[in-house]
Amino acid sequence: MTELPRLTGSGCRDTPILKQRGQREVFCGLTGIIWLHRKMQDAFFLVVGSRTCAHLLQSAAGVMIFAEPRFGTAILEETDLAGLADAQDELDKVVDELLSRRPDIKQLFLVGSCPSEVIKLDLAKAAERMTIRHAPSVRVLNFSGSGIETTFTQGEDACLASMVPVLPHTDERQLVLVGALPDVVEEQAVGLLRDMGIGPIRVLPAPRADSDLGLGPNTVFALTQPFLGDTLAELERRGARHIPAVFPFGEEGTTAWLAAIAQEFGVDQDTFDRVTAAPRARARKAVAQAAETLNGKSVFFFPDSQLEIPLARFLTRECGMEAIEVGAPFVHKGIVGLDLDLLAEGPTLSEGQDVDLQLQRCRDARPDLTVCGLGLANPLEAEGMATKWAIELVFTPVHFYEQAGDLAGLFSRPMRRAGLLKVEETA
Ligand code: SF4
Repeated sequence: MTELPRLTGSGCRDTPILKQRGQREVFCGLTGIIWLHRKMQDAFFLVVGSRTCAHLLQSAAGVMIFAEPRFGTAILEETDLAGLADAQDELDKVVDELLSRRPDIKQLFLVGSCPSEVIKLDLAKAAERMTIRHAPSVRVLNFSGSGIETTFTQGEDACLASMVPVLPHTDERQLVLVGALPDVVEEQAVGLLRDMGIGPIRVLPAPRADSDLGLGPNTVFALTQPFLGDTLAELERRGARHIPAVFPFGEEGTTAWLAAIAQEFGVDQDTFDRVTAAPRARARKAVAQAAETLNGKSVFFFPDSQLEIPLARFLTRECGMEAIEVGAPFVHKGIVGLDLDLLAEGPTLSEGQDVDLQLQRCRDARPDLTVCGLGLANPLEAEGMATKWAIELVFTPVHFYEQAGDLAGLFSRPMRRAGLLKVEETA
């Protein structure tokens, strides 16, 4: 079977991790609704929050305002926050009205926020009550997207984790791909695996509540995103088995991810090579083009998307970059352990954040490229440093072979732009 990639020398699995706790600069988990609502066509996300939460969603969603919305905000007014009104009754009214107006909604997510947490509004209790009230036509679940509890990709994790316990049981041997990917990217992955004879393949989140996705002891699953720790734990609780794999970023990452699944399903080497040879060659060529700009340059990751470790592996191994610091909100070795094995020793690994101390380390290092959130990017750009917004990595299709060149391009573009600005300044 295909040789999985190896590293000559030591990887970072056992590198001591710098853990700092202080002020952090990240979006909250509500952000995940922006990509999740596109995947689940009969779902509605009702944020129980403040006007700030509503503004975040509206400005992040932009164009979606013109479509039939699949998310909204039940605004907690000051009287609710002061505990003067019974917020549970109010919420019942809002949901009754929403569901009678929108019979197309089959899954309703009550999404917690900072304000609902502060007043300790029990959304789990509300979801249970509403499930009984609106059964069987609507399934009501809850999760938290609060900035107190979550970083921006944890919203997806919390959402998927909330769905796992209510999925039906199946004894069928099946593969489940876990993570909300753009449809075109998901189709590519499923297509490659099917061409190897692997199936049946299902995805979580499923596009509709009445899909045939069940779970059980003969289910094996592969994560497509490294930020799904709670979902992994819930899936294991249902008896499903995780296939540990390097994440499918870049040519090497995609091949290793596919190979881990192919091994599980006993795919022979010839079949694997026949299916992957052409897209592998295309990916290698596309990455090589963008890597011309990246080769020999240094990169510094602030903790944001939880994609940092797999991306550092991709940028160092496939694009010739040097990682100075790889910061991640959480380091879950059961999920990113294989990526850590392939990341050559050298960079500082950090978990969590004390933003002032980390900014100082970044300024001292003067990396060629800094990957960080929007709040840090502007001040760093003003200091003449090239930055990449981490959030774009979640909004842009970046997984698997056909997107490998685009992924490398996301990093090479800001560097080329910074180079041009310098040329213009000195001209
Ligand atoms: Fe702000 Fe909290 Fe609402 Fe997120 S959940 S928009 S951090 S108030």
